[in-house]
Amino acid sequence: MSKGVVIVTGGSRGIGRACVLLAAERGYDVVFSWVSGEDAAKSLVAEVEAAGGKAIAVRSDIAAEADILSLFAVADAVGPLVGLVNNAGVVDKTARVEDMSVARLERMFRINVIGSMVAAREAVKRMSTRHGGKGGSIVNIASVASVLGSPALFVDYAASKAAIDTFTLGLGREVADEGIRVNAVRPGIIATDIHASAGEPDRVANIRSQIPMKREGSPDEVARAVLWLLSDEASYTTGSIVTVSGGR
Ligand code: NAP
Repeated sequence: MSKGVVIVTGGSRGIGRACVLLAAERGYDVVFSWVSGEDAAKSLVAEVEAAGGKAIAVRSDIAAEADILSLFAVADAVGPLVGLVNNAGVVDKTARVEDMSVARLERMFRINVIGSMVAAREAVKRMSTRHGGKGGSIVNIASVASVLGSPALFVDYAASKAAIDTFTLGLGREVADEGIRVNAVRPGIIATDIHASAGEPDRVANIRSQIPMKREGSPDEVARAVLWLLSDEASYTTGSIVTVSGGR
């Protein structure tokens, strides 16, 4: 029997994909979004179904409010929402702050911050006991960048993730007595395509020796922390950030 519906934003690749696979394996019906990777999204749905799970892929740009509303409408048709994983996020090419355009900053904050906040808003409307819901769990994907600052790399990204840290704390306290827990997972260096999108395809290899565990993390290692926070095993944990960074 299904444990209910979980939405994962940006589920087609990387950490989001690992969350979709593990959530489906643990008995949730998963609705996930993608924006450019249609083939990857389709093959992920097929992989989940082959394992006996349920996943639905929806093209939904987290930067567009109408797309977020459509994503939640699809989930509403599947069943009661019990969880949201705010995973969709981007970095831009490495740059110093004096070279950052307003267009770059607006895109970064629209996707990484406003998109996550609007998705959380929709989840609260459905899950809060204040609105007749039965409670649930929101997990935001933060980053160690928020405490390191990422100088000369992507301070804009680091600042957007700092906003996610504070949003997690504030919303967690705001809805704590309405049946909703809000937490974040703060990954360190994880092996995904995101480093190449920053123009740094060798970043993982270059930084490995600086990580106390001397290795990068896998998307699955992040997903396991996410699934713990989604579950009742984390029933007294809210407004918290779980760091998954090999000690970095
Ligand atoms: P990734 O491999 O680049 O995958 C990004 C995912 O987000 C893809 O599924 C992509 O979909 C989706 N996406 C991108 N823009 C989107 C948009 N506007 N609307 C909806 N979906 C969108 O990234 P990742 O490394 O897995 O990162 C996932 C999260 O972890 C991000 O929030 C990132 O900041 C955070 N994080 C990653 C690391 C790391 O080292 N990898 C460390 C700390 C934090 P398409 O394929 O369809 O474009």
